[in-house]
Amino acid sequence: MSFIRTVLGDIAPSELGLCYAHEHIIIDASFTTQATPDFLLDDVAKASAELSDFRAAGGSTMVDSMPCDCGRNVRKLAEISRASGVHIVAPTGLHMAKYYDPGHWGHFYAEDQLAALFIAEIKEGIDAHDYSGPIVERAPHRAGVIKIATDAQWSPREEKLFAAAAHAHRRTGCPILTHTEQGTLGLEQAERLHSLGVDLRHVVLSHTDRKPDRAYHRDLLQTGVRLEYDSGFRWKEGNPTLDLVVELAPEFPRQILLGMDAARRSYWTHHGGRPGLCFLLREFRGDLLARGLKEALWQQIMRDNPARAYAFAVR
Ligand SMILES: [Zn+2]
Repeated sequence: MSFIRTVLGDIAPSELGLCYAHEHIIIDASFTTQATPDFLLDDVAKASAELSDFRAAGGSTMVDSMPCDCGRNVRKLAEISRASGVHIVAPTGLHMAKYYDPGHWGHFYAEDQLAALFIAEIKEGIDAHDYSGPIVERAPHRAGVIKIATDAQWSPREEKLFAAAAHAHRRTGCPILTHTEQGTLGLEQAERLHSLGVDLRHVVLSHTDRKPDRAYHRDLLQTGVRLEYDSGFRWKEGNPTLDLVVELAPEFPRQILLGMDAARRSYWTHHGGRPGLCFLLREFRGDLLARGLKEALWQQIMRDNPARAYAFAVR
């Protein structure tokens, strides 16, 4: 039987509950936060409070999406999960090159070396030092998703990274979560992963709503991947994310997931920001139902789709 791998252990897909499919619960001080201090989300007490609110509003699970060595801290994630009662799925993998200094190992290691690092985090435990140095100390918290990314163009690093992620997926069944830069290169990501033997039902492409072109989304969905939309609170005029869900969810009911990707202090209630991590469960749900989306479809998007997508592939 398949399972979802959380930081506190494996759960049945039926235990997932309402799930935010792409979040940032912890971002410790790192190369990334030096450039953008608003990304610094290192406070366990504030994160526990924000996730407790999410739990009280009916939420159950969040998928963290900060991969190796760019501010991830799996011990903090486990502590927040215990304190809040929210299931947390933590990633292995690597982010875009721009989130690392130019001498970072991720730029130079070979495909099979990267795959071995990812597989060890899925099977044995995430490095408590975040693969930031020569000593590796495996925490008793395993990775439940492989996060990879493309920037505006494919680079040899990204080709290698996708091959390493596919290798780890074929070996373990671990699902894959991708970053698309402003929604671009989604078709190329899906085609590449498919050609590398990845089961596209266990692939989630993030942020594609930032390119809200209907024909593009239909082409993406026809490949069989799942799409994660997370800009429902970001638009200044209109809400193309809301429009996409209303239009495409009835047509592709099993393939759309939602999250917030709220990777800034200024978005969190407990850091004094807004709209806070309950936004999807309150305002966005209300807006969707007001636009005619059925409650059953909301449950499908928030519960059933992530439960299928983030279950380990069984061969
Ligand atoms: Zn993100």
